[in-house]
Amino acid sequence: MSNNQVRVRFAPSPTGMLHIGGARTAIYNWAFARAQGGKFILRIEDTDRERSTDENTQIILRALKWLGLDWDEGPEIGGEFGPYFQTERMQTYKDALYKLIESGDAYPCFCTKEELDAKREKANKEQGGYAGYDGTCRHLSAEEAKRRIEAGQPHVWRLKVPKDHAPITFDDEVYGHMEFPCDVMDDLILVRTDGMPTYNFAVVCDDSNMRITHVVRGDDHLSNTPRQILIYEALGLEVPTFAHLPMILGSDGKKLSKRHGATNVEEYRDAGYLPDVMVNFLALLGWSLDGETTIIPRDVLTQKFSLNRINKKDCIFDETKLDWMNGAYIRDMDVDSWANVALPWIKKTEGAKTSHINVDIDFAKSICPLLIERMVRFNEIPKKIEYFFWDDSVVLDEKSVNKVLLKEGARADEALRIAMSVLTDESNSWEFEPLQEKVKALGEKAGLKPKLIFQPIRVAVCGNMVSPPLFESIVLMKREDVIARIQFVLDKFFA
Ligand code: GLU
Repeated sequence: MSNNQVRVRFAPSPTGMLHIGGARTAIYNWAFARAQGGKFILRIEDTDRERSTDENTQIILRALKWLGLDWDEGPEIGGEFGPYFQTERMQTYKDALYKLIESGDAYPCFCTKEELDAKREKANKEQGGYAGYDGTCRHLSAEEAKRRIEAGQPHVWRLKVPKDHAPITFDDEVYGHMEFPCDVMDDLILVRTDGMPTYNFAVVCDDSNMRITHVVRGDDHLSNTPRQILIYEALGLEVPTFAHLPMILGSDGKKLSKRHGATNVEEYRDAGYLPDVMVNFLALLGWSLDGETTIIPRDVLTQKFSLNRINKKDCIFDETKLDWMNGAYIRDMDVDSWANVALPWIKKTEGAKTSHINVDIDFAKSICPLLIERMVRFNEIPKKIEYFFWDDSVVLDEKSVNKVLLKEGARADEALRIAMSVLTDESNSWEFEPLQEKVKALGEKAGLKPKLIFQPIRVAVCGNMVSPPLFESIVLMKREDVIARIQFVLDKFFA
C-alpha cells in the first residue's frame, strides 16, 4: 500500500436492508475510490447483536452487487486489514480499550441504567435539559474501581474527555470548517456492560486499523464526528478527513422515508429500474459533474467523481426524474442487452409458460423493437405483452371495445372483415410489412382512414387500443390464433 493511497469504506449495519441513503453513500465512496485510484472497503457493523442478522448482510451484499459496486476488501473476498465484520474484530477493541485504560483516558462506570434514567429525568425537569453523563464514576479512586470490578459489579467503560480541551475542529470536505465546544461533551461510553464496543469506539478503531483516509458518510453522523475525534486523540491516532453527505428528502421536503414509497434498493430492482440508472440517479443526489449534465455513465462517474462537488444543501428524491432517466437508458440499450434484462420479465408474463411460443432470448430480441422506445420500467412488460400468449382467445378491454368497436360510425366490422380477408389468404406471406400494406390499401379503397382500419384490428388481436405495434406483433403469433381472435370479435359484436 502506498502511503498516500485513498482508502474509503462503506460501513452498513445489517439491521435492515440497503436503503436509498446507504446506497448513495456506498456509491460516493466507491466512485471516489475509483476516481482516485484508491481502495473501496466494505465493513459490516454488526455489533448490535439484537438487530443485526445474517440475512440482512446477505441482502446488503446482493444489493451492492446488483448496483455493480465492487469492493476491494471486505466480506467474501477478505483483504489485508480484515476481518471485515466488527464482531470478528473484538480483540482489536479490547486492545484499544486496554491502551486507554493504561493511559488513564478510560474509566469504568458502575452507574446503573435506573440511576442514569433518574438523573436524566431530574435534569429534564429541574435544569431544563440533560447535559449528558455527570461524571460520577470519573472521580472514583483506582482502588475503588478495581475493587468493584473484582467483585463482579457490571460496568461500562467511558472516555475521560479532557476538561481543558479547546473546541474540537475539523475541516469537512462538504460542510467546511466545523467547530464544536468540548465542554458540552460528556464522557461517552466506549464499551458496554456486555463487552461490546459502542458505534463511536468501534468505528474509530476500525477506521484507523483499516487505514481509512477519508470518512464519507451521511450527515446524520455529523454530531458523532467530534466525539470520534476525541477518541482518535486519546489513542494518539491520526484523524482522517471527513465528508458528510446532505440529507435526501422526499418530494414533500421531509426526510425520505417509507411514507414516500420505496426506500429499499431492491424494491427499485423489482420495479424494473436498471442498476446503471440507480447509480447515475443517486450520484446526482447531492453531487454534480458540472451543474447540468444528467446522464453520467458509470465510467465517467468513476473518473470524474470528486468530493469538492458535493453540495451541502439537502436534495430531493424526484421519482419523475428517475422514471425519465430509466426510459432514456432503456432507449439507449442495444438489442442484446435489452433482451437479457427483459427475458426474466417476459417469462413472468401470464401464459408465457404454457404458450406455444418458445420464450427464449430470441423471442426477447424479436419483441425488443416493439417495446424499447415506449418503456419506462421493465415491470411494464408482463402487462404489455400478455396478448402474445393468449393463443386463440382474446381478453377484451371494455373501454377499448366501446371506444373503438362499438362507437357510432366506427365501421369496425368492415375493418375486421378486411383483415380477415388478408390474413386468411395463405398466399400472403406472414411478414409484417406486406400484410400491413395490403390491409391498409383495402381499407383505403373502402374509404377507411388508417386509424379506422387498424384500431379495431388492434383491439380484436391485442385486447386494447394501446398495444405495441400491431402487425409487428401479429407476425410473431400463429396465423390461426390471430384469425380465431378476429372471428371471435366479429361473432360477438357483429354477427
Ligand atoms: N454503521 C454506521 C451506519 O450504518 C456507519 C456510520 C459510519 O459510516 O461511520 O450508519
